[in-house]
Amino acid sequence: ILNAGSISKSYGATEVLKGISLEVHAGEVIALIGPSGAGKSTFLRCLNYLERPTSGGLTLDGEQVFKNPLNPSKHELVHLRRRVGMVFQSFNLFPHLSVLQNIVLAQTLNGKRSKKEAEEYAMKLLTQVGLPDKASAKPSQCSGGQQQRIAIARALALDPEIMLFDEPTSALDPEIADEVLTVMRDLAEIGMTMIVVTHEMRFAERVADRVLLLDRGCILEEGTPQHVFTNPTHERTKTFLQAVL
Ligand code: ATP
Ligand code: MG
Repeated sequence: ILNAGSISKSYGATEVLKGISLEVHAGEVIALIGPSGAGKSTFLRCLNYLERPTSGGLTLDGEQVFKNPLNPSKHELVHLRRRVGMVFQSFNLFPHLSVLQNIVLAQTLNGKRSKKEAEEYAMKLLTQVGLPDKASAKPSQCSGGQQQRIAIARALALDPEIMLFDEPTSALDPEIADEVLTVMRDLAEIGMTMIVVTHEMRFAERVADRVLLLDRGCILEEGTPQHVFTNPTHERTKTFLQAVL
């Protein structure tokens, strides 16, 4: 459904992404791994234009997302981000709103649902992430893992077709990370299309259909978890995997 064609990104003279292409199929789970500074976050952010690529283009269902990728219109950006949701390492919930209101807000702001419908949908999503009893709590009254699950529910509330996750568990203790990974695995099982930047190799191995290893702005390795983890092509992959496994 989403196609990225030779995405490059430079900051000044530094080329952080060197022409990365990726075709994402409906229902697919892609794990993006690689050393720090490889460009994983930058690439993910280019996929929903939080970062504007220096060159390269995006298509959704075969149609160009932007008439002019170097000068995207507001309307085109809204359209893209409605279809491609994102969850960050830091949860960024609104502290002064209740958990339920956090999930309601985005839906009513863009006129997608009435307040009542949005509240009902928010409760359904909170149940899906295992937190129906936190609806009226403030984010500060929730643990880090709970806040991340709420952030996932909030992203889902806009009915994205693709979800991008940038190290959603790296700010969490390992036991707490598991509850977030379980929610993500459940999402994968019901067919959500997902791209996940992660250092959780076990999650990548079990849940991903495809693993991409990014290194210095290039895709160094690409294939099934089985292929990348047990039979990598490059020496650098072996070094990286030895360090993280
Ligand atoms: P990590 O695993 O540490 O999160 P990453 O693979 O996500 O790393 P990126 O955050 O995409 O890496 O960064 C890739 C490179 O781009 C790094 O060398 C970084 O310093 C550089 N970079 C990222 N954002 C900017 C920016 N706004 N301005 C200048 N350089 C940047
Ligand atoms: Mg990163």
